[in-house]
Amino acid sequence: MTLRVAVPNKGRLSEEAIDLLKKAGLGIEETADRKLYAAVKNMDFEVMFLRAKDIVRFVHSGVVDVGFTGLDLVMEAALDVDKVLDLDFGHCRLVLAAPESSGISSVEQVPNGSVIATSFPNMAWQYFARKDKMVEITQISGAAEVAPHIGVADMIVDLVSSGSTLRTNRMREVETIARSQAVMITTADARKNKGVEIEELVTAVQSVVFARCKKYLMADVPVNVLEEAKGLLPGIEGPTVMDIIDRDDMVAVHSVVDKDRVYDTVAALKRLGAKGILIMPIDRIVP
Ligand code: AMP
Repeated sequence: MTLRVAVPNKGRLSEEAIDLLKKAGLGIEETADRKLYAAVKNMDFEVMFLRAKDIVRFVHSGVVDVGFTGLDLVMEAALDVDKVLDLDFGHCRLVLAAPESSGISSVEQVPNGSVIATSFPNMAWQYFARKDKMVEITQISGAAEVAPHIGVADMIVDLVSSGSTLRTNRMREVETIARSQAVMITTADARKNKGVEIEELVTAVQSVVFARCKKYLMADVPVNVLEEAKGLLPGIEGPTVMDIIDRDDMVAVHSVVDKDRVYDTVAALKRLGAKGILIMPIDRIVP
């Protein structure tokens, strides 16, 4: 059965989502203008390029079986779709922010009757309701950070990643309302009809997401420090140890290492007298 998959056609999540699918093994035949549909070479997939915001609705209504989009958009839409995978890119936060000049640094200080500009009206409503604040929400479709400067709002609820846009606009983050990243979504109906196909795609994509935070490390290690070296190299099932031809004082050790631990591990291996250390990217890890 053909699996219909939606990815963002433009914007921040588009390139990485497409790259993820390609690395997962889908031979997406993209045209330069990224038309609505792309065929997938020799596979029973149909890829549709849609706006990130629309993908939640199209998954929900069954137009596509699986979608890649931002969790923030899923939460805002409040439709009955299931998140099947965190994709570990597109990290951002939905925050309440106020002009620095307002002196507001906590939500308790927000006066009732304040006007809040946002493109996330549902999440903003729920947030202020939880905080027992009576505010007026004004919906805008983007560039919320300018709203207080042009006098159409007192504060904003908007997405930030580094926070530099807020700082440039002399706005201060008051509180984080929600955290987001790119996610893969589907529905119970799609699972009922195409459960096997969806599970296969989840496994393939997960293997790429998992591999992205790992590196493959190879090193020649003196035999007399092998036990210490093993302690540094967890691997998936522990490190692989191999003989080196014509050497009885050194062995070759291969291991999978967390990206964040590569620096420290290499330094520690060097201290043990390891030589010829190679660090390589991994395309996929299927446990
Ligand atoms: P687009 O509007 O198509 O560029 O996509 C916006 C999506 O990218 C949002 O819904 C978020 O999921 C994600 N995103 C990640 N970082 C940010 C950010 N700093 N600002 C806005 N959106 C972000």
